[in-house]
Amino acid sequence: MSKRPWGYQPVAEQPDPQWSLHPQTSAVRSGLARSGFGETSEALYLNSGFTYTSAEQAAESFNDETDHFVYSRFANPTIAMFEQRLATIEGAEYCVGTGSGMSAMFASIACLVKTGDHIVASAAMFSSCYVVLTEILPKWGVTIELVKGNDPKTWAVALSKPTKVVFIESPSNPMLDIVDIAMVSDLAHKVGATVIVDNVMASPVLQKPLTLGADVVMYSATKHIDGQGRVLAGAILGSAAYIQEHLNPFIRHTGPSLSPFNAWVLVKSLETMGMRVEQMNNSAQAIAQFLETRPEIKSVRYPGLKSHPEYAIACKQMSGGGSTIGIEFNSPKADVFKFMNALRVIDISNNLGDSKSLITHPASTTHRRLTPEVQAEMGITESVLRLSVGLEHPSDLLKDLEQAF
Ligand SMILES: *Cc1c(COP(=O)(O)O)cnc(C)c1O
Repeated sequence: MSKRPWGYQPVAEQPDPQWSLHPQTSAVRSGLARSGFGETSEALYLNSGFTYTSAEQAAESFNDETDHFVYSRFANPTIAMFEQRLATIEGAEYCVGTGSGMSAMFASIACLVKTGDHIVASAAMFSSCYVVLTEILPKWGVTIELVKGNDPKTWAVALSKPTKVVFIESPSNPMLDIVDIAMVSDLAHKVGATVIVDNVMASPVLQKPLTLGADVVMYSATKHIDGQGRVLAGAILGSAAYIQEHLNPFIRHTGPSLSPFNAWVLVKSLETMGMRVEQMNNSAQAIAQFLETRPEIKSVRYPGLKSHPEYAIACKQMSGGGSTIGIEFNSPKADVFKFMNALRVIDISNNLGDSKSLITHPASTTHRRLTPEVQAEMGITESVLRLSVGLEHPSDLLKDLEQAF
């Protein structure tokens, strides 16, 4: 059964209707559509347009009456393979790929709201998401209320008013705050809001927001989905109704499209994502536990540690703590910088979810655009570092951290 209304027909995914494939098998095989050449690996269709055998066929294609691609801003065979595969992994009816995580975040909300609509969001989030919600959307008369993500009472008060969209980033970047997605989704649905989850930090491997009650999931595929530091991309996943009625009309005409080349990189990345994220998760858990024993460290923020304030909720909704650790040092910025500069294996870089372990100082880089007050609310101080644990052997990462101390 094609999940693509405009005519993409994947290779039959299940050997028979009773045989439900393991997610890892789907990650390798779902969405595959071979050309007449019978190529083994997914083909790269690096083309913007498509031709027609007749004027009538062109007219029919634009009428969505035939299985024919019309333009890569709308759909493209390689992009469709990536979208179909990620939709299967996520358990979503539809997926739409975008050019970056931020275009996914913006489009997922902008397609739903109009002047006078109200958005409620958890306050701790990636700084560009914060700018979209507090500076860009308000320019069009959309109101926004930020709540303390781990406080059920403030959610209940905020969601007693008519609300169009609830936006949750859980875990949050960089301090790994956790929001109870099921609890907030229940409250949001009572006032008719659509719940959108930025699931970047958990990845499709460790958290399934749609099964927790959320309506829409968005990703920066730049992070764990590529996971090898090569391409910028994003994805939005949700129901047929959301994608067909709201997202597609918005995205097809505003054009934050994914490049077919990047989609080709990503469709292959999905094959190994499960193994990569599991390895990163296991290493991060060991490193977080090691960091907790160090006298130089004031606190370690990691959803897989019992010391995390929302550890119980993390256990309920995530199958692992993830690849990223928030680290607060006892000493001032100069010492923290000295520590970063002493690392020999771990790179200084503001990306995350990469095969290379990366460390950053959020207050002076990724989150510098936020005022000191907003930074403080998110737990970002001058003594905080964010460590993204990669695929190097954990023994070398532990040795590197130890020698830098
Ligand atoms: C990186 C990131 C984004 C933005 O993704 P890009 O691909 O860089 O545009 C959005 N949300 C979170 C939580 C992120 O970490």
